[in-house]
Amino acid sequence: MKKVTIRPGKERSLVKRHPWVFESSVARGGADSGETVRVEAADGTFLCWAAFSPQSQIRLRAWTFDEAERVDAAFFRRRIDQALAMRARLEIASDAVRLIHGEADGLPGLIVDRYVDTLVAQFTSAGVERWKGVIADALLAATGLTRLYERSDAQAREWEGLPVQTGWLRGDGGTAITIREHDWRLTLDVAEGHKTGYYLDQRDSRRRFADAVRQFGCRSVLNCFSYTGGFSVAALAGGAAEVISVDSSGPALERAVAHVALNGFDASRHQAWDADVNATLRRCLAEGRRFDAIVLDPPKFAPTAAHAERAARAYKDINRLAFMLLNDGGLLYTFSCSGGISPDLFHKIVAGAGLDASVDGYIVERLSAAADHPQTVRFPEGDYLKGLGILRR
Ligand code: SAH
Repeated sequence: MKKVTIRPGKERSLVKRHPWVFESSVARGGADSGETVRVEAADGTFLCWAAFSPQSQIRLRAWTFDEAERVDAAFFRRRIDQALAMRARLEIASDAVRLIHGEADGLPGLIVDRYVDTLVAQFTSAGVERWKGVIADALLAATGLTRLYERSDAQAREWEGLPVQTGWLRGDGGTAITIREHDWRLTLDVAEGHKTGYYLDQRDSRRRFADAVRQFGCRSVLNCFSYTGGFSVAALAGGAAEVISVDSSGPALERAVAHVALNGFDASRHQAWDADVNATLRRCLAEGRRFDAIVLDPPKFAPTAAHAERAARAYKDINRLAFMLLNDGGLLYTFSCSGGISPDLFHKIVAGAGLDASVDGYIVERLSAAADHPQTVRFPEGDYLKGLGILRR
């Protein structure tokens, strides 16, 4: 077994059972891409068994802190069983569920979503890439399913020096799927959709939004960054009279339109605007339009903490415009899925936006990713998605 030694003092995060070691913390040692290595402190103390990533800034990702545990097929079966057992205890109002959420499930770099009878996996670290076949077999055995589609086209692959890989890993057939979320039906294509096909992490917030639209009697709703219209369907279910989905992806909007019909809502209650959100907010303001509710669910403006400052300006700007476009008493559902923006910083950004818009608001909801995208105590980086529900004063 190859050995990697950590610089003196740099073992602290591993001692706290945080799974990452950055390149600058490695004193010596190396291995092939994804190979399992024994990680030791400068004094030779065992720290963990880890996967080696020769090209990534995150040079090591810990598999286990137990010296006696072996990283083999049985190891992956145990981790997958544990993740599935956790999901089985959650009451998830959908047949589309995140089964494996990377570090939080002890499998750094592995994302697995289940859409009804189809699994979709993303392998974004050298470690899980090396064990791909073993992991695929273990996933099928644990779920009893036969179809596993690979969507290893995330940007993180590039940082690991891994090529894009997509296609059926196990089984085959059509890639179009209809899921049930709450009382709604939604369609997606696991080959063509964003991420693994759908934004499962916003499931609970879409439910909360539907309830809030009803509770606060919101009639006109502007759903910005709508993707395939999940929040739009929620708004219609909540009784909104007029819902506008705004996105720059034509195919996503076509699906949003289809979802309105699929869920039995009159097409006249919904519009799809294929447009840039920033320009749209400015145009609405210039035209004197106002809304009872606005959703802002932008893409990741800050992929890492290094991008936080520029991202903060972008978040502030759209939130400022949204505050100005809200009727008095109107509802803003605003999100950030940037790992580099903490919930505290996000709150400050939204506060600054409100100040610039001369608008104050009551925070009526604090939102985060659904529980099948778990956060663990030891891995604060997992807290990527945060949102606020705000009632304009
Ligand atoms: N709210 C959605 C997920 C949004 S993901 C849901 O519940 O499913 C972010 C979306 O923003 C993507 O669909 C992407 O196409 C869109 N997008 C990114 N930049 C944009 C821009 N400048 N203007 C409009 N849409 C944009």
